[in-house]
Order: sequence, then C-alpha cells, then structure tokens
Amino acid sequence: MSSIYNFNAGPSILPREVLEEAQRDLLDFQSSGISILESSHRGAAYEGVHMEAIQNITELCGLTDEYAVLFLQGGATGQFAWIPMNLLGPNDVADYVNTGSWAAKAIEQASCLGNVHVAADSTSECPARVPTAEELNFSPNAAYLHLTSNETIGGTQWPTYPACDAPIVVDMSSDILSRPVDYTAFDLVYAGAQKNLGVAGVSIVIIRKALADRAPDTLPGVLRYRDHIKANSLLHTAPCFSIYITMLVTRWLKATGIERVYQNNRDKASRLYGMIDSTDFYRGTAATHCRSEMNVTFRLASEALESEFLDQASGQGMLGLKGHRSLGGVRASIYNAFPMDGVDALVSFMKDFEDRHA
Ligand SMILES: *Cc1c(COP(=O)(O)O)cnc(C)c1O
Repeated sequence: MSSIYNFNAGPSILPREVLEEAQRDLLDFQSSGISILESSHRGAAYEGVHMEAIQNITELCGLTDEYAVLFLQGGATGQFAWIPMNLLGPNDVADYVNTGSWAAKAIEQASCLGNVHVAADSTSECPARVPTAEELNFSPNAAYLHLTSNETIGGTQWPTYPACDAPIVVDMSSDILSRPVDYTAFDLVYAGAQKNLGVAGVSIVIIRKALADRAPDTLPGVLRYRDHIKANSLLHTAPCFSIYITMLVTRWLKATGIERVYQNNRDKASRLYGMIDSTDFYRGTAATHCRSEMNVTFRLASEALESEFLDQASGQGMLGLKGHRSLGGVRASIYNAFPMDGVDALVSFMKDFEDRHA
C-alpha cells in the first residue's frame, strides 16, 4: 500500500487520517451503535457534523457573518446553471473570462439562461495562460464577473485575481483552501468537494447573503440560494456522508494550517516544474507565470512515448497520471493531501525514464 501514489484529478487523494476515522465511524458513529451512513440528517449526532463543517470552512476562509456556507448537490457543474438562475436577470449581462475547458462549460450553461459577455478569451493560446489585466474587457454594470480559479484540465491558475467593480463569482473546484486567499474579496465561491475538500456528492458554496436576494420569485425554491440559506442546507435530505468527509478534511486542514498546506503545495509544484524546466525531454503545457500548483501538465515528444511513460509509471504505483481525455499528455494532480514523497518518486522516475530514452 505504501508505494501507491494517487495522482487522480478528481475524485482524488484524501488524507490517510480522514480515511481511518471514516472507517471507524462507518460501523459505529460516535458510540451510537449505528453507522454515520445510517444516521438521520435531523438527528443530534449529524447536526454536530453539519455545524462543524460550516464552522471549519467559515474559519479557514476567514468569512464574516455577511456570508453563508452552503452544501448543495449537482456538482460544480450544477452551479454553472444555479449562478445565472439566481443572479442574472433578463436585462442583465454577466461577464465571464474564458481560460479553458471549465470556464467554457460555465459559459455554455450560463448562455442558455441569459446574456453572457466573454470579457477575455485565452483558450487559443499556446502555452496555455490566463489573460493579462489589459486584455480584460468588462461590461459596464455587469451582474457579476465569473472566474475559474484553476483550470484543472489545462493546468493554469490565476496567480492573483483581477479586480472588478461587479460582484465576483469564482469556481474554485480544484484549488479551494490550497493557498491563502482573501475570500471576502469575492461574492460567491463554489467548489465540488471531490478535489480538495472531500468526496463526490456535495458542492460547497460560499455566498454573500445579500447577493442571494436577487433570485426571482419564479425560480423554484429548491434551486434558490436564498431558500437553502434559510434552511441551513437542510431544505431536503443533505448528502450527509459527503458533508461528513468534508468536515473531517477541513478539521485536518485546520490542524495543519493553511500556511503549511500552502508551503507544501508550493514545494511539491516547484519540484515537479523544476524537473520539467531542467530538460527539453518534457514540455510543460502552461505558461510559467500562471502554471497550476494543483495540476501539473506536460507532454513528451510523441503519444507513443507518453503512453510508455504512463504504463511504466503505473507499473511503479504512480496512478492517475494520464492527461484529461480532451488534451492527452500527462497530468500530475497534487492536491493538498498529496504527499511530498509521491512527488519525489515521480521526479526520480522522470529522470530515470529520460535517461533510458533520451
Ligand atoms: C471538476 C471541476 C468542475 C466540475 O465538477 P463536478 O462536481 O464534476 O460538476 C468544475 N470546475 C472545475 C474547475 C473543476 O475542476
């Protein structure tokens, strides 16, 4: 077991301590004699889990009481539709920055529901990059600006976020709580839990409560942020187990500390990029100034060589390194819970593979 390294992009690696605790609670949750999976979402035991998960996220993100933390279903993809349904009126325009596959999907869903203006599009750039401040062309009085913090597939990440007068909505699915960020600079932040915060089945939405008042009365309550805020994410049966795992992961993040998590993340990314930069054998696909600290993407000289690389890596216990099916190549996802020795193992495999093929 110790020699397996999980580089999957999502669902992805969880802290070992979290899995061990979940294993214990799977049979007997807090000495109740029943499993966490069998506990009522209205019961006292689950209520403690629910409240702690909200509290942990509130503390880790430094949120004020102007914000609500919600647990919703339908994935981050569901949020691509919820956001315009709740925030984009018929006479409004929303600005979106198209930085890659995930931003493009958000744009596609929002365009079904209202007026979308693409404030900048860097998707045809090679190497992949985020737009410069000068390239951003905001609409006057936009309903909101939508950003994708980390492009999980293309391997780019905003090093710092652009400023804007409109409320800012950020898809942080693949880099939430991976680095120190002023979350109060944003009006809505959302993330599927299965990359940095837990398992599939729940999306975390951090929303400035005043923004939720915009939702039209014609929108069914189950799709309105406002109603979920009022019900504290218990409008209907919550995905209790997924929220429970997020509670454990955020408890682990608090114990570790975001500064230390970030130092580790930066260190992991710089060891991998250092390896890529030291040779022409591997070619990074993202521009240096905005390459992702979460998803390190690179190519080899041919698809045949990449396929051999992936086969041998997986033979040595390094799993999930295949690039997204839309782009190919190699992608090493090194989220918060990914260990340094896994990065070192990959770097030494890369050196060895190069020596044998260069
Ligand atoms: C994975 C991902 C999504 C989609 O998440 P789902 O929960 O599968 O809908 C959206 N945005 C980004 C940036 C992602 O990495």
